[in-house]
Amino acid sequence: MRFVYSDRYRINIGAHVFPTEKYAMVREHLLADAQAVPEDFVAPPEPNVEDIRLVHTREYVDDMLNLRWSQRTVRSELPLTWEIVQGFFLFGAGTIAACRIALEDRVCMHVGGGFHHAFADHGEGFCYVNDIAVGIRKMQQEKRIERAAVIDCDLHQGNGTARIFQDDTSVFTFSIHQEHLYPIKEQSNLDIGLDDETGDDEYLRRLEEAVPGILDGHKPNLVVYVAGADPYRYDQLGTLRLTKRGLAMRDRQVIEGCFRREIPVVVVTAGGYALDTKDTGEIHYNTARECLRVLGQLKPRPSAEPQPSPSPNQTEPPAPETGQS
Ligand SMILES: [Zn+2]
Repeated sequence: MRFVYSDRYRINIGAHVFPTEKYAMVREHLLADAQAVPEDFVAPPEPNVEDIRLVHTREYVDDMLNLRWSQRTVRSELPLTWEIVQGFFLFGAGTIAACRIALEDRVCMHVGGGFHHAFADHGEGFCYVNDIAVGIRKMQQEKRIERAAVIDCDLHQGNGTARIFQDDTSVFTFSIHQEHLYPIKEQSNLDIGLDDETGDDEYLRRLEEAVPGILDGHKPNLVVYVAGADPYRYDQLGTLRLTKRGLAMRDRQVIEGCFRREIPVVVVTAGGYALDTKDTGEIHYNTARECLRVLGQLKPRPSAEPQPSPSPNQTEPPAPETGQS
């Protein structure tokens, strides 16, 4: 399986709740577990500013290129440096690359991207470039697809994506998120706002009620799955209560749902602010495992392999499929 990834995603944003080191952690975990080899990681091409302009207004792009604080850039809650702007443009190029690969291979994971709070004319909520919209618009421009769907399972509503595609019937936007939390909500084609403290069972039930109908009803040629790690029970920014196992089951529902219908799916990582950044890395790694699983490429954990002639007192149960929190 191919992953899109760059070491340049580790952007210096100063002291910040957003851990840009998480991308490298996911890659290292996949390599350490022999689920991937270095050749599986595809670097995004150098970004083309015209691709960014497929979604974002000329004035806003000019503010970014000139590192200009304005009403369009000031709500990003990030610094504005050349490294950061280049990094966000690169995330856009990465999601474009991941969309192309997904259309060839059925499944691709971008270990990056998912910046769903960026609007056409401004950035906000740690997001300068809406790479999700850039990827979809680019695939439409290249006539590789007509219809797309965004299945956004980040803790936060995909407000920027919802607004960008509000009048575009070719793109179905869905968001399941914590209701009483940032941001001010825009209207997606379908929104599920969850109560504080919602746990695995309720979350998975609500998701199952929505996803098959979206895939069968809209019949997208491509799904962008926004697999934020922040619905996790120990996330610093929210109070949903999903476990690591629940999050992996969420991933399985979406990825398998697309795969069974032969709808290509590109996964983007989006948010994740666990108290321990290792948990965020592990949640994204578990998402990669679900991609590998549907493709029949998931390798068994060494501990689950049969042991030669076990002695009677070696009765340790096999490790669970995913880490349990
Ligand atoms: Zn989020």
